Amino acid sequence: MIPTGRFAPTPSGRLHLGNILCAMLAYLSARSKGGRFLLRIEDVDVPRCPRRLAQQCIDDLTWLGFTWDEEPLYQSDRGNVYAAILDRLAEDGHTYPCFCTRAQLMSLAAPNLGDTQVIYQRTCAALTPEEAAERALTRPPATRLRVPDEDISFTDGLFGLQSENLARDCGDFILRRSDGLYGYQLAVVVDDATSCVTEVVRGRDILSATPRQLYLQRLLGYPTPEYVHIPLLVDAQGRRLAKRDKDLDLTALAQRFTPAEILGMLAFSAGLLDDVRPMTLEQLIPLFDWRKVKTDDLRLPARIMK
Ligand code: GLU
Repeated sequence: MIPTGRFAPTPSGRLHLGNILCAMLAYLSARSKGGRFLLRIEDVDVPRCPRRLAQQCIDDLTWLGFTWDEEPLYQSDRGNVYAAILDRLAEDGHTYPCFCTRAQLMSLAAPNLGDTQVIYQRTCAALTPEEAAERALTRPPATRLRVPDEDISFTDGLFGLQSENLARDCGDFILRRSDGLYGYQLAVVVDDATSCVTEVVRGRDILSATPRQLYLQRLLGYPTPEYVHIPLLVDAQGRRLAKRDKDLDLTALAQRFTPAEILGMLAFSAGLLDDVRPMTLEQLIPLFDWRKVKTDDLRLPARIMK
């Protein structure tokens, strides 16, 4: 199996330093093994991700020196693939239609997972096919996956053993929204498998989604890639970077720094360099080693902030 990494940005805005760090580590990890590197545009939420922004993202990655081995995959082109997989899961009895409105979900919410995420109380799981068909006449349903009361574990390349009980900590989650848009978990799992991805490098903010993806892989008979979630990027004072921090998206950065300067600063933050100096991706490949990357927040050098 050829080592295959990927970068899978959601083009709802211009690339941010955190995205570039993720792309860089994913790229270096794959290329340092002589592996392939793929680019996937996660524009499944089409209204939020216009093609113009996807193209901007491709142009930015090219400017930074990234290369990839196949034409970029656009999730917005893959509705038929996701529909077929969803049919398969439905035929095997793993899914059910859910007619709950957002307001109903909030009022029935069990203890919270966060401000917007609630554990679904399986209100619609007990509907008979006849009841569901009748409700579907007035409201298009979302599709939910039934999850098991079972701990799903994996070993993250940096953060070690992770485990989650899907029924208790997550609940039956949505694979297709009532407006017809496919859920992130389904699209990611299907695309990683069809592209033969062997290693997934992405932000720590997505770590908690991984057990859901592992469960989907099991149901669909897909292999599980290796996962490395990367720590948060913070400023020189240790403060979390905000997406609204416009100084740190490429529109502003490209006016102040060359690609090699940006990559050198990120490589220093990640622990790959002892000092800040301009580096191309090709120069970084031989220096790359996951053992140099710590799990603490990664601090940017002060000079990158205005
Ligand atoms: N599209 C996600 C993001 O931009 C990343 C998903 C993944 O790498 O699995 O945050």
